[in-house]
Parts: sequence; C-alpha cells; structure tokens
Amino acid sequence: MSNQDAIWSLVEAKRQAFFALSDRVWETPELNYAEYESSHAHAAMLEQQGFRVARGIAGMPTALMGEAGENGPVIAILGEFDALPGLSQEAGIAAMRPLVEGGNGHGCGHNLLGTGSMMAATAVKDFLALHGLPGRVRYYGCPAEEGGSSKGFMVRSGVFDDVDIAISWHPAAFAGVNNPISLACNEMDFYFIGRSAHAAAAPHLGRSALDAVELMNVGVNYMREHMPSTARVHYAVTDTGGSAPNVVQAKAAVRYLVRARDLPQLQALVRRVEKIAEGAALMTETSVRHQIVSGDANLVGNTPLESLMHRHLQRLGPPVFDAQDRAFADQIQSTLSQEDIATSFARFGLKPRKGLSLCDDIFPPESGDGTLVGSTDVGTVSWVVPTVQMRGATYAIGTPGHSWQLVAQGKAPAAHKGMEHAAKIMAATALDLIRNPDLIAAAKADHRDRLADTPFVNPIPDDVDPPLPEKAHV
Ligand SMILES: [Zn+2]
Repeated sequence: MSNQDAIWSLVEAKRQAFFALSDRVWETPELNYAEYESSHAHAAMLEQQGFRVARGIAGMPTALMGEAGENGPVIAILGEFDALPGLSQEAGIAAMRPLVEGGNGHGCGHNLLGTGSMMAATAVKDFLALHGLPGRVRYYGCPAEEGGSSKGFMVRSGVFDDVDIAISWHPAAFAGVNNPISLACNEMDFYFIGRSAHAAAAPHLGRSALDAVELMNVGVNYMREHMPSTARVHYAVTDTGGSAPNVVQAKAAVRYLVRARDLPQLQALVRRVEKIAEGAALMTETSVRHQIVSGDANLVGNTPLESLMHRHLQRLGPPVFDAQDRAFADQIQSTLSQEDIATSFARFGLKPRKGLSLCDDIFPPESGDGTLVGSTDVGTVSWVVPTVQMRGATYAIGTPGHSWQLVAQGKAPAAHKGMEHAAKIMAATALDLIRNPDLIAAAKADHRDRLADTPFVNPIPDDVDPPLPEKAHV
C-alpha cells in the first residue's frame, strides 16, 4: 500500500462535504445532551451517504448510529459533537473576540471529532461496497462527552454488545496513537439535612447542614495525604443552604468528582469519601444521602490495535501543512505563554522545538508519562470492546484545551487537514481489521488478558438516568 491507497483516495473524494459538515457543527455549538442541530446534521449526512440510521438510541434523543455493509465483523467508529459554555469565538483570528457574549464554542474540537469519525466510516463503507466485501462499519454519534458520560449510558443499554472493535480519535496538537491512560471517575452529589433554628436566640436547637458540608470537605482534604498520588478529588458546594447567617442552615449540598487510576481504585476511593460524609453527618447530628450523577471507566489499552494504527501512521506520515497554515499557527502561538507551549510538547514526551507551531512528525507510541490526564467516556467503551484511539494534529502546538484559541482554529484549513488525516488512519485501520480476522482475534485476546482478573462494573449505576435537558423529554 502507498500514500495513494484506495481507502485514502475514498476519504479524499468526499473531503468538501465533510469539511462543510464540521464547519456547520462549529457554527451551531450546543451543550451536553442538547446537541439537536448537530445530531440532526450528522443523521442527515449519514442518510445522504447511504447508512441505515437509528436516532435517539440508548434513550438519549441526540445519540445516533449509522450502519452500512452486511455480515462480517462489526467495526464501530465513535464520534462526538458537543461544545462548551462561555467559549464563543470568531474563527480565523488570533485575538479573543466572542461571536455571542457568553455563548458556547467548540473549545475541544468536537466539531472535527464527530465529522472525522464519520468521514472514516463513510470511506470504509464505500470500499466495502465497491469491492463487494462482507463486514459492517458503524458510526456512533455520542452526545455529552463534556461531563455527560453518554458512552457509559450507551454501554449500559447494550448498543455496543455486538461490536468487535471500536476506533476513535481526538483533535490535538500532535498526531499519533493515543497513550491509553485516563482516570476512572465518578461525579456524585451529597445532600445533608439538618434542623433550622434562630442562630442567636435558639442555637442549641439548630443542626447545621452547612457545617456538615464544611466538615466533609475538611475530612476529604485530610484524606488526600493517604490516597494514591494518581488519584484526584475535586468538589463544588452546590447549595449553601441560604444566604442568611442568622438562620441555621437546614439543608446543604456538595458535588464531588472523584478520580482514580482504574475502576477498582475508584470504587475504593468513592467508598472512603462516602464514609467521610457519614462521619460529617454523625458529628453534626445531620443526615446525609448521596447520588452518583455520572462516571467513566479508565481507558483499557490494546497492544495489537495500537501497533496496527501506528503502522498506518508511519506509512502515511504527518498531515501536510503549508506556509499559510504555519503563519496562522504562529500568530496563535504569539498569544500563548512559553509554559503553554512547553506543556504541549511535554504531554507527548517530546523535547520543545523553538519555532515549531504545527506538528511535523508522528509521535511514538506510549508518549508522555500519563501523569497529567483527565477522564473520558471512551474509557467505559474500552472495558467492553477492544478500543484504539489516535490523536490528530489539528491546531497550533501549545493551544490549551477548552480555550478561545482552540475555538478560533476550529474551521481553519489546518483543522480540516488534520481531520482528514485522522479519518484516513481510522479508515485504513478499520479496513485491515475487517479483512483480517486474525487481527480481531489478537485484539480480543489482548483485551481478555488485561481484564481477566477484573470484572467490569459500570461506574454508572443502573438507577441513574442521563441528565437530559427539559426539551429532550418532550
Ligand atoms: Zn474533547
């Protein structure tokens, strides 16, 4: 195979339509579970391309799936299309200028993420049809990646049960196989109930729920010294019980986000946080109940799949950027600190290179030490289906995640090129898997070995529903 691979030509053939779809999603930035326009645009494109489309899957109105092909293995390519609040920004300029004051923006590049994945699935579909090959390729449009954990709900509903392999990607500054390290997490609410009283005239009758929240936070902060160094705990007081200091607060609530290296560590840490809440309630003679809101499992790697994807990356090389792409990336870099830029290189285990504003190489597998990572709901999928992801180079080196600079680059030619590059790699990887049952068998054996001693427990309990917005219930 060469750079002129038939599968890569099929990706190129439809580039204008997919660049336009990505731009359209960028122009309608929508938040968690309210991605109505974006989901509709994705479904329309899937239908136009000849996929069999299922909308509103797993009980979520904006989740969708398109399938093409017959028989053979099932390869899933996962996409996203949600935006972030407060990041509205004009495209193509290197200055902060919101389009809508306080509006949403695609600060994580999910306009590219969903479209690039569908672009890959479409090329695979076209190849199978052209050559009359058995095999099914699916595009999963997954809502609410930004804190919504939709893929965990999708796993729970069984939409991945007959999938053999899952493939995905994420926009980044560099291109390469994603080092599969992320933190398992649970978001949970603690509600304390006390007893109201006049804070001066009858303080002995009051039992403060706000005191309980404060004591819980103190307790958790003491726990930090005695938890694994890779774990993370964050909290936000969501209900202080009122604004009057002369009323003993009868209710108060705090939201916790607990993260750990893997699911078993997470379960142990969550239990400790629950005990601290119970202790705070005991000390204050209040009562407490808690509720898990969402959760993600950690990513499970897969050596055969990562090797396969890396081979395709080496064959294709990095995306080809031109002088204009680099000039705009230079301008973006001029708005960043040296620390931003150094951090970007360090994340991938690379030495900083002065004057380099766009990726010009493929980063090696297992790049970076994985100490500065967050969580992703792809993690939950990776526990039930062998999964591989890549990073696609779509923006200037140093661009912080969730920043106006990232939004400003979302429609740039470099973003389109990086997306097309990722689509080519994912399509070639998917096609190899469909044509070589041995590769799928090897990936499944690796998956089995890694999880042999660890039963999967979905971090989203059965009684938790996705937090759909009001409109979604109509
Ligand atoms: Zn993202």
